[in-house]
Amino acid sequence: MIAFGPVPSRRLGRSIGINNIPPKTCSYSCVYCQVGGTTEMSTARRQFYEPETILNEVRKKLQQSDAVSAQVDYLTLVPDGEPTLDINLEALLQNLSNLGLNIAVISNASLIWDPEVRRALRIADWVSLKVDTVNEDTWHRIDRPHGKLSLSSILKGIRTFAEEYEGKLVTETMMVQNLNDKPGEMHAIGKFLERIEPGCAYISMPTRPPAENWVRAPSEDSLNMAYNILADHIDEVAYLIDYEGDEFTQTDNLESDLLGILSVHPMRDTAVLKFLSEAGKSESILDELILKRVLKQTEYNGQIFYVRRFSG
Ligand code: SF4
Repeated sequence: MIAFGPVPSRRLGRSIGINNIPPKTCSYSCVYCQVGGTTEMSTARRQFYEPETILNEVRKKLQQSDAVSAQVDYLTLVPDGEPTLDINLEALLQNLSNLGLNIAVISNASLIWDPEVRRALRIADWVSLKVDTVNEDTWHRIDRPHGKLSLSSILKGIRTFAEEYEGKLVTETMMVQNLNDKPGEMHAIGKFLERIEPGCAYISMPTRPPAENWVRAPSEDSLNMAYNILADHIDEVAYLIDYEGDEFTQTDNLESDLLGILSVHPMRDTAVLKFLSEAGKSESILDELILKRVLKQTEYNGQIFYVRRFSG
């Protein structure tokens, strides 16, 4: 299916997803990929679909959404592969932007060293680039790139793009246990991100079946560590994690509000206590949430934090 949705997304509101690359053509074969193993590994940009075919599918989707009064905030290139492999990307983004909606692209950044790719991406209103690591060895172990790619060229390309781009640039770092979940990795990523100043650095983790079944999510302690280290370098850091525990019945709006905040970032104990006292609630709610296994207390740098548990 070339166009799907609209689907709700925390970052982009309601978005029509666009598959401009058939599954699963990619320049990476990430160990955590939720689309499965890469069947066609490539760095060669080429045509997969006629831009007009994609545009017609999107127009149809918009008409269907309109017919049922479904709101659409973004048109998002989020294919089952790498969207910048599409040689027609610039024409496609130009045509999509003529539809009068915001355009988003979620890319692994592997071809961002190519000026033509950067020129095309500048058309989008919102671009997300993958920065899982800035360490060559980790990059090979986690993203398993095509042999023609060079990490230093990619990082240089990201820096150049950040200087040229006028839309909202965000980054996404997928954390995998025992691969990039150590403080040294996060400090190095933080230093790199400080130079490109993304609008937000998202931290995510595998929550659906990964390409390799040995892949494990990082611990809550590691997520908290990563958040705090990145937040030392840039203003806006947020988790991008689906919480399996979200279906549990919330008995109180305050619980729901607190868990909502903790789904996006950890909170210091002092901030949580202030939050509860302002709402006139007792601290016992914290013990209840810990017993329900949706909340956990953890420590980082001598400070106590409350974090969401990501499986209920
Ligand atoms: S870049 Fe995206 S699509 Fe490609 S292998 Fe990695 S996670 Fe999968």
